[in-house]
Amino acid sequence: ERKKPHINIGTIGHVDHGKTTLTQAITKVLSEKGWSEALTYEDIDRAPEEKTRKITINTTHLEYETENRHYGHIDCPGHADYVKNMITGAAQMDGGILVVAATDGPMPQTKEHILLAKQIGIPNLVVFLNKCDLVDDEELLELVEMEVRELLDFYEFDGEATPIVRGSALAAAEGTNDELGKNAILELMATVDEHIEEPTRDVDKPFLMPIEDTFSIAGRGTVVTGKVEYGKVNVGDDLEIIGYNNNHKTTITGVEMFRKNLDYGMAGDNIGALVRGLKREDIRRGQVLCAPGTQKVGKKFEAEIYCLKQDEGGRHTPFVGKYRPQFYIRTADVTGSIELKEGTEMIMPGDNASVDVELIAPIVLEEGVRFNMREGGMTVGTGVVTKVEFEK
Ligand code: GDP
Repeated sequence: ERKKPHINIGTIGHVDHGKTTLTQAITKVLSEKGWSEALTYEDIDRAPEEKTRKITINTTHLEYETENRHYGHIDCPGHADYVKNMITGAAQMDGGILVVAATDGPMPQTKEHILLAKQIGIPNLVVFLNKCDLVDDEELLELVEMEVRELLDFYEFDGEATPIVRGSALAAAEGTNDELGKNAILELMATVDEHIEEPTRDVDKPFLMPIEDTFSIAGRGTVVTGKVEYGKVNVGDDLEIIGYNNNHKTTITGVEMFRKNLDYGMAGDNIGALVRGLKREDIRRGQVLCAPGTQKVGKKFEAEIYCLKQDEGGRHTPFVGKYRPQFYIRTADVTGSIELKEGTEMIMPGDNASVDVELIAPIVLEEGVRFNMREGGMTVGTGVVTKVEFEK
């Protein structure tokens, strides 16, 4: 029996638009097919506290199946939890269900969640137009749908191509109206199955390993160690080591794990790779070993950051312009300066903000990569790279 592919999704949208009720409704409707456990609103709303990099986030993780797929589903109780979740990547989403109440249309948190979804690289959204039991006016529903599509276009999701399913999460949860309730939920899930694409698995991407350490082994040569993030490396592969203006080409003459020689290493493995023709001093931690031409370096990037509160171990004073913390990005540790965007004067502990960053040296960067900022031995913030200005 072939296992169903696993996809991570979640509800996003403005407070009170019905995210938790929708999550409840999905579990109820799918439970009738034996594909889920039916959860109560309280089961979902009583989100346990999680700590990621010392940051407190309340999230509920649940799972269910459709005919074609197995889903992990995330629901956060509050707006701040959604923002922290997206920035820290506490729960990664391959796609999202944007919940918009037909009674309100898009609201400020609707915008903020769509923007964050774009910035962190969620490729596809499906819209659930909720509370349609309260709106009788077809023209009004069409107007709200148009506003939603315009907003999606504004944040560079394809508004026209994004499916919108109308319904009532409450009717589905309470079993009061099949058309807006149960049937709408089944249509929503069929739409999610079809429209939210399966992500490229890490092992299918070109090889990348952030370098943690280098050793020289008598009689064998130089070994670089790290955890393979993407792809696969075979003995004999031609790879490159880049970052910090110090680039080398090399051939892998051995791969080892737990002191055993292997033919290859793949995503998730902690390996040592024997690199031909390089000395230990040629390479430093924070560079990456990767398939030639598949990665680029940069010093300047835009990021969305979250500043830890004092009780999360962060600062007790705000960040102001030209702040220079240490950036920890994969295995790299490099000083950088933060420039606040126009109109932002300071960032308070507990706040999130868009910032421009300039590192003192170029390293391999990718949109969607997460990092920590440290100062005087403590983590003061965490963030996600949203846009990179790569070096030529
Ligand atoms: P969240 O903050 O987005 O998670 O919203 P909730 O799921 O907590 O719902 C907010 C309020 O809207 C609750 O009182 C729900 O009962 C109500 N609600 C949710 N969905 C519907 C719906 O389809 N129709 C109506 N009339 N009320 C709904």
